[in-house]
Amino acid sequence: MKKHNFSAGPCILPQEVMLKAAAAVQELDGIGLSLIEISHRSKEFVAIIEKARSLALELLGLENKGYQALFLQGGASTQFLNVAYNLLENKAGYINTGTWSLKAIKEARLFGEVIEVASSQEQNFNHIPKNIVVPSDLDYLHLTSNNTIYGTQFKSFPDVAVPLVCDMSSDIFSRQLDFSKFDLIYAGAQKNMGPAGTVLVVVKEDILGKVSRKIPSMCNYQVHIEKDSMFNTPAVFPVYVSMLTMQWLKDLGGIAAIEELNEKKANLIYSEIDLNPVFSGIAKKEDRSNMNATFNITDDTLVETFDKMCLEAGISGIKGHRSVGGYRASMYNALPLESVGVLVDIMSEVERKA
Ligand code: PMP
Repeated sequence: MKKHNFSAGPCILPQEVMLKAAAAVQELDGIGLSLIEISHRSKEFVAIIEKARSLALELLGLENKGYQALFLQGGASTQFLNVAYNLLENKAGYINTGTWSLKAIKEARLFGEVIEVASSQEQNFNHIPKNIVVPSDLDYLHLTSNNTIYGTQFKSFPDVAVPLVCDMSSDIFSRQLDFSKFDLIYAGAQKNMGPAGTVLVVVKEDILGKVSRKIPSMCNYQVHIEKDSMFNTPAVFPVYVSMLTMQWLKDLGGIAAIEELNEKKANLIYSEIDLNPVFSGIAKKEDRSNMNATFNITDDTLVETFDKMCLEAGISGIKGHRSVGGYRASMYNALPLESVGVLVDIMSEVERKA
C-alpha cells in the first residue's frame, strides 16, 4: 500500500512523474538507451535541460524579463555561499527566520559585512518578523520564504530598493507571487520539484558582475549562464525528474491551480488543529506555512495512541524536527487532499478517545 507521505523533504512527488522517470531509466523515449547512460551533450538531454529551464521561468511568470534559470549542484546550501560570492561587495542584510537563514548568514559572513535586519530567533522562530525596516545601503536583502523546520511562511515581502534574494527551497511553485519582485531565487529540488541532487537558481542577469573579487567558475552564476547551465555535467536524473514535475504542474493549470489545492490542504489541517483541544499549533497563526504544519499534542498520554493510529493508517513522516519537537505535516504540491483527510480523521478520533 502506498503510504500517505508527509515527509519534509525529500518528499512526495507526483505518481505519474515517478512512473515516467522509472521508464526513462530503462529507456528514454524509445531511443534504445537509458536516460542515465547518455551524454549530457546529446540532443536528447540538451532538449530536456532547455525544457526544464524554460518551464521554470514560465511557471514563475519570468519569461523575457531578464532572468535566467539554472540547474546547478551542491543543493541550496551551496547557494548560501554563492549568493554572497556573486553579490556581496560591502554589506548584505539577512532576515533570520530559522536554521536555514542562519546557515546562509554564516556563509555570507565569509565574504563581507552581514547585518541581521530582523530576527525571530528569540521565540524559537515561531513567527515571521513584522514591520521590517530595510537599510538602503545593502548590496542585497536575503530571506527564506518558507521555514521548513518551524512551519512559518512569509505571506508578504518587504518592499525594498535593493536586490531581493530568496531561498524558496520549501515553497517554490506552491503559491502565486509576483516573482519579479525577486532578483535571485534559489530552491533545492527535493520538495516541490524533484529528487535531491539539483538546485534551481533563477537570477536576474543585471544584478551580476558588480563585485570586484574573482569568482571561481563553479561558483560564478555568469559562467553557468554563458554555458547554458552545462558548465559541468548536470545532474541528469534530477533535472529530468524536475522537468517532468514542472510539466505535470503546467498541465494541471500551473501555480494558480496548485495554490488552490494547497490552500484546501492547509485549511483542513489548521482548522482541525484550532478546533481540536488535543492539538495545538506551534507557529503563530498569521504566519503559518501552507507547506509544513507544525503542532503538538497537549496531552502526553495520547501520544502513543496517535502515533499508533498514524502508523496503522500508513501515515509517514510527521515527526517534528528535533529542534522543534512535536509533529510536522508537510503538504507539498504532490500530496493529495485525501492524505490530509486521513490525518485529520485520526486527529478527531484521538479527541473522541481523550
Ligand atoms: N533552505 C531550506 C528552506 C530548506 O528547507 C533546506 C533543506 N532542504 C535547505 C535550504 C538546504 O537544502 P540542501 O539540503 O539542498 O542544501
